[in-house]
Amino acid sequence: MDTKLPEFKATAVEQIEGIHKRLYDTFHSQKTKPLSWRVTQLRKLWWAIKDREQQLGEALQRDLGRPFYEAYLTEIGWVLNDIIFVVSNIEKWAKEEGAADVPFTFKAMRPRVRKEPLGVVLVLGAFNFPVQLSLGPVIGAIAAGCTVVLKPSEGSPYTAALLQEIMEASLDPEAFVCVQGAIPESTALLERKWDKIFYTGSPTVGKIIAKKGAETLTPVTLELGGRNPAIITKNADPRLAARRLLWAKGLNAGQVCVSQNYILVDKDVLPFLVKELKTAIKEFYPEGPKESKDYGRIVNSRSFDRLKKMLDSSEGEILHGGEMDAETKYIAPTIVRVSSTSDSLVADESFGPFIPLLPVDNLDEAIRIANQVDSTPLGLYAFGSKTDTNRILSETRSGGASLNDGFTHASLPTVEFGGVGDSGAGCYRGKASFDCFTHRRVVTNTPAWIESLLSVRYPPYKGKLAQY
Ligand code: NAD
Repeated sequence: MDTKLPEFKATAVEQIEGIHKRLYDTFHSQKTKPLSWRVTQLRKLWWAIKDREQQLGEALQRDLGRPFYEAYLTEIGWVLNDIIFVVSNIEKWAKEEGAADVPFTFKAMRPRVRKEPLGVVLVLGAFNFPVQLSLGPVIGAIAAGCTVVLKPSEGSPYTAALLQEIMEASLDPEAFVCVQGAIPESTALLERKWDKIFYTGSPTVGKIIAKKGAETLTPVTLELGGRNPAIITKNADPRLAARRLLWAKGLNAGQVCVSQNYILVDKDVLPFLVKELKTAIKEFYPEGPKESKDYGRIVNSRSFDRLKKMLDSSEGEILHGGEMDAETKYIAPTIVRVSSTSDSLVADESFGPFIPLLPVDNLDEAIRIANQVDSTPLGLYAFGSKTDTNRILSETRSGGASLNDGFTHASLPTVEFGGVGDSGAGCYRGKASFDCFTHRRVVTNTPAWIESLLSVRYPPYKGKLAQY
């Protein structure tokens, strides 16, 4: 393919103040409030994406070596469906609600909840699913009636530049702006006061964002990463576990926040799991992963070097894979038997195609280790009998969990998604995306006729409580 793509160009930091002011002026002008205006923006955005499906596929190919099929399922088709779902439900979600469980004495005030936009929003995206993770929150914010600055990740520059073109071609420039750049531009953005910051990325940068939010009293949603465990008990089917976990690791060459970082496997199941993982690699990539069009590449040399260092410092035994090619940023799906939780492949989030297997004696040990390595990962994957998986669920924590599968829970576009503890705060997707950028404003209206009854609340208080 030689599709022409726009060029990535960082936004001049000096422009940021003007953009910020413009978006506040627009928000205060009330322009974003009518639902019809929001729906028009979303429809235009849908068409701008639709018109550029091929270009988006090409941009994702150049940035991440992403196969078009994967790009369509996880990014392009995903956001198109997201817009349709939001547009179909926006009226219902935005409707004023009568307050629930109102005590009799307050009924005359007719308490209700208005759904109001939070205001001017900053969205910072991650590189690995640059379309979905950038436009997903933007769609929610548009639906809620906010104005938005999106700063996509500079890590996927072709896609970032195309996202800017899409936004500029479809959305009202007075209300929606795409700012490009890396740390200097993000820092300049974070110096301003926003009404909401929505951040997807690493826990390290998440702390910087949370601090900035604290300094300006800005609510922050944090979608972070973690060291997600998969637990395979002695009652699990090793073939199913191998195929499903390889899918979860092979996708985007392991650069997926919800894929398992390490596998705790019952020691008796280990040899069967290794055999089935090797078989599954051959089945998924018959010509070998390097030659396969269905296997991606590492995003850039910095990430490639980090992953190489990580594997080099592991004390584990490579059972399969291990091949790396710096020039094409290829890393093979690599099965490693490790013996300790301090191994680099378990202790850190790899965000690459490593499959570390840590054998355990029993389920007690697996649960203890999972809780010790990271007590609040983004995802958890449990394979085994119903009794096993129920026990794992009730004795661990995580943002979400899939039983007998890789990250299926996170593949549901209409159900809320988010972390807990170190893996994040807040959630979005489906109705949760609308709620994420909405303030539930409680309103009462006290009628004049009730004044004589209200006198009970006015001083003097003497004699108004029987016992005092
Ligand atoms: P990252 O933290 O390096 O970058 C994310 C965003 O933050 C980018 O837009 C980047 O420009 C900006 N940024 C980077 N350094 C900054 C700084 N010092 N100050 C202000 N802004 C800064 O993350 P990444 O490498 O793009 O993504 C990988 C990480 O994100 C992994 O930890 C992964 O688990 C996590 N992630 C989480 C989710 C989720 O939904 N929970 C999704 C994807 C990725």
